[in-house]
Amino acid sequence: MNQPILTIVVPCYNEAEVLRETKKQLTSKLIHLIEEELIAPQSKLLFVDDGSKDTTWSLIDEMNAESPFVTGLKLARNVGHQKALLAGLETARKKSDCVISIDADLQDDVSVIREFVEKYRAGYDIVFGVRKSRDKDTSFKKVTAQGFYRFMNRLGIDLVYNHADFRLMSKRALTELARYGEKNLFIRGIIPLIGLRTTKVLYDRKERLAGESKYPLKKMISFAFDGITSFSVVPIRMITIIGFISFFISSLAGIYVLAVKFLGQPNEGWSSLMVSLWFIGGLLLMSMGLIGEYIGKIYEETKHRPRFIIETDLYSNQMNQSVLES
Ligand code: UDP
Ligand code: MG
Repeated sequence: MNQPILTIVVPCYNEAEVLRETKKQLTSKLIHLIEEELIAPQSKLLFVDDGSKDTTWSLIDEMNAESPFVTGLKLARNVGHQKALLAGLETARKKSDCVISIDADLQDDVSVIREFVEKYRAGYDIVFGVRKSRDKDTSFKKVTAQGFYRFMNRLGIDLVYNHADFRLMSKRALTELARYGEKNLFIRGIIPLIGLRTTKVLYDRKERLAGESKYPLKKMISFAFDGITSFSVVPIRMITIIGFISFFISSLAGIYVLAVKFLGQPNEGWSSLMVSLWFIGGLLLMSMGLIGEYIGKIYEETKHRPRFIIETDLYSNQMNQSVLES
């Protein structure tokens, strides 16, 4: 087998604190793999700066000047982890045989990259990195994550349990991924849909090297909500069912009230009336909100706006050079 060109895509948002260490560890991994002739010497790191406000980009630029392995992609503004990752994958796909995505904070175990490459060489198109344990995550994160996976599974969405965005994809898998044109791409949900030959590699998730999580609660909720609503209309169906049930129960109550009236008993009960008014009102607002959520999704998709805008692309230029030189 020819040695494949590997690109490691690293989305970064305000990661100046960890970036040097990340570069050091990933570069030494690349060099090892190149020396063992498992990957081609043109293999690279691609840092995607997702509109950071700190010195992330100047650092990437600096490292690019120092090291032949480091390239970078600067997005015009912050578009969020998923879209930044996608920008990196889209860019890397054109010049690589396989691409690994990994977070900048080194929470994912760099040493399993070798296994990823071996699986690729054995013919797999997609290799998922799966966390053996979540010891290092906060218990809040553990509980919410587990609830999320359960809920998604209930909805019939096939997520790989305890897999974040640490994975290898072949050029072929990336080409297929590029055909999913939706704007709000929930990458983790889409990739199992692609199919092809897939496998998993287990690893221990570590603590963030430095800095703090760029996924505060608000982003986590919006991420989960996007995941659910972009894959399933079950929540809307649930509303319909709740609506039916409450309609049925209130019909029974109505019959009861009428019966009592005709039997000549006084009908006390403005309080229960208020309760049911609020109940139905709440239900209606909730339903409208949820339906609005889907309509909003349709609205966003129909605008066909670009998912990300690249300001500077060091990667494509340099990959062109190395192809010309060799
Ligand atoms: N990230 C990004 N854009 C954002 C938020 C995060 O590119 O708007 C990157 C971040 O730099 C990191 C990865 O996404 O490389 C995962 O973020 P983080 O480690 O903060 O999330 P957590 O591990 O806490 O879920
Ligand atoms: Mg992290």
